[in-house]
Amino acid sequence: MISLISPVRYIKGVGPLKAARLSRLGLHTIKDVIEYFPREWSDRTNITPIGELKQGIKSTVYGSIAWHSVKQVSAQVGVFHLYVKDHTGIVDAVWIRRLSYTYDVFASLAKKITQAESIVIYGYIDVFAGKQQLRVEDYELNPAKTDSFCKIVPIYPLTEGIDQKLFRRIVTQAFNALDAHVSDVVPIDRSHAGKLMPRSKALRLIHYPHTLDEAERARRSLAYHEFLFLAIAHEMNRLKIRSYAKEHQYVLKKNLLSLFKKNLSFEFTSAQKKVIREIFSDLQSSRLMNRLLQGDVGSGKTVVAVAAMLLAAENGYQSAFMAPTEILAEQHFYTLLNFCKNLPVTVALIKGGMKKKEKQVLLDNIRSGEISILAGTHALLERNVKFNNLKLIVIDEQHRFGVMQRSILQSHGDADTLVMTATPIPRTLALTVYGDLEVSVLDEIPPGRKPVQTAQVSDTQAYRIILQEIAQGNQAYIVYPLIQESEKIELKSVIQEWHILSQTVFSSYSVGLLHGHMPHDEKYKVMKDFSDKKIKILMSTTVIEVGIDVPDAAVMFIQHAERFGLSTLHQLRGRIGRGAPKGICLIGGKASTPQAQERFNIFQQTTDGFKIGEEDLRLRGPGEFLGTAQHGLPEFKAGNLITDIDLIQLARNDAKNLITNKPVVEAVFKKYGEKINLINVG
Ligand code: ADP
Ligand code: MG
Repeated sequence: MISLISPVRYIKGVGPLKAARLSRLGLHTIKDVIEYFPREWSDRTNITPIGELKQGIKSTVYGSIAWHSVKQVSAQVGVFHLYVKDHTGIVDAVWIRRLSYTYDVFASLAKKITQAESIVIYGYIDVFAGKQQLRVEDYELNPAKTDSFCKIVPIYPLTEGIDQKLFRRIVTQAFNALDAHVSDVVPIDRSHAGKLMPRSKALRLIHYPHTLDEAERARRSLAYHEFLFLAIAHEMNRLKIRSYAKEHQYVLKKNLLSLFKKNLSFEFTSAQKKVIREIFSDLQSSRLMNRLLQGDVGSGKTVVAVAAMLLAAENGYQSAFMAPTEILAEQHFYTLLNFCKNLPVTVALIKGGMKKKEKQVLLDNIRSGEISILAGTHALLERNVKFNNLKLIVIDEQHRFGVMQRSILQSHGDADTLVMTATPIPRTLALTVYGDLEVSVLDEIPPGRKPVQTAQVSDTQAYRIILQEIAQGNQAYIVYPLIQESEKIELKSVIQEWHILSQTVFSSYSVGLLHGHMPHDEKYKVMKDFSDKKIKILMSTTVIEVGIDVPDAAVMFIQHAERFGLSTLHQLRGRIGRGAPKGICLIGGKASTPQAQERFNIFQQTTDGFKIGEEDLRLRGPGEFLGTAQHGLPEFKAGNLITDIDLIQLARNDAKNLITNKPVVEAVFKKYGEKINLINVG
């Protein structure tokens, strides 16, 4: 019997050759074909008169065939021109194809066209050598005689050797081949009637909609089901994590926490108080904590983490504080030392390049429990780091880690986990990627900070402003996209510019150089000298992007800012305006594309991390936004993380009710299987 998982060759008309071509599209089973959704639809019920065609807008045209010709435009490429006319005008419709030495690639097209009188074409107007052409994406000859005229026709993203007509036939046959209907596991809540349809119905209608409106409704229904499955998987994960009754207990003893609070030179913001309450209540409960703390740069996440780690220390538990870079880990270590001075608690740092003996002592002290709080990078994950009783793991700037590491870390015994991230992760994305976490938000910046002012400037202007700031006792960053000059791209590099600028414009000041290829000790010394104000100007790559905290750094010049995404720019800018002097962010370079200019504009208009995150997501799309391979983002065939926010919310709400529906849970399990625990690993 043919079922959804039968290979494509069970579809009528699909032989070995076509099966091979389908597999190039990743389509191996009947299910794959049915779930291969159109990227758009050609509305043949709505014909655009030729005289009204507009450049770049996809349209459907119907006309009679006038004449045709073939031109070779290069050694490899030929163009078939077909002149089509209606009562409003005439248009040059073109098929562009790679030529072959062995046969005439246009022969069959020419033959069919000679026998036809009329044609319907789906395509868009493009200008070539000053002349308008209609680039053909799909067509049908003598359409009045077939039944697909006056219909909405799906257009699929295809590959060479499979055209729209053929694929449409394959889809139809795939549906025909299925004896049983595609069944609906998930009931559609009655409150969604009219807006969303059952999955089985949507699957057919997305291919064969009666109206464009119906096509979009079908797509949204399918998107909803995708989000729903993921939300149920997340919910299962969350309940599972929460169902572990932890053996360790936290009691508020306050012997460390009171001292710590007394030591602080500032009051907690009310957002910090709220979040600390949430975390403490998680820790004191009988369930394991799995919490995400979102807070814009400078919102004061570190001190919140320190409070949590001190609660652990009060109870005799160890904490690990993980940062994405060595510089940041080191800085966290000094922050910890500062917050914990005069407190009876031992803080340590583990880093690369430690001397063997030194490292052994450290490892022994971790194992014995002598060390309460350990800061470090993913070196913390190394297997030879054995803790005595690690009960709290804090991961800073999670979005910079691969998600995999998080799950490895989670496997480190039954520890509570706090994951921190400087926002620009818009809420929808956070829900999708970290859907199994509880979320806390630090939505308040400590008082007294003035927003950083941002301006697009020339190099000379930038240098002049930097000199002015330094004359007032402030410090500056200059950031470059490259470490070394490159033959391929004409961009300024940090090493080259450091040689030049430290000898010229800035020759009367100490100028530091910092980049990722420097040995660890050197990096550390430069950072320390900058912190101690021995270095006035720090020229660096984006290694300073996350977390670095030097209060007197007032000005930052980002060279070739067009090379950076909005989120990176925002993180970089977060390094300044942290202390008393007002922050100035200067962006240099050329916005050579409209997109780059849009980034520049947004960046100058707002300092709100949430807003920047959303714009960044909109401009780059979710995959790019989260970074490549390890972003842990599940793939959606119908869903769109940017436009379907309402559906993500809806699915999350519905998931809570469906979690008790056995067939639904089984279906989710079948889809995600063992990955359910690693759902974020993608
Ligand atoms: P981020 O959330 O970006 O990690 P940090 O934890 O580095 O922010 O905090 C930024 C700066 O603000 C640090 O110098 C920190 O000591 C300071 N800070 C944190 N909380 C407060 C507060 N409630 N009032 C004043 N300053 C604070
Ligand atoms: Mg931080």
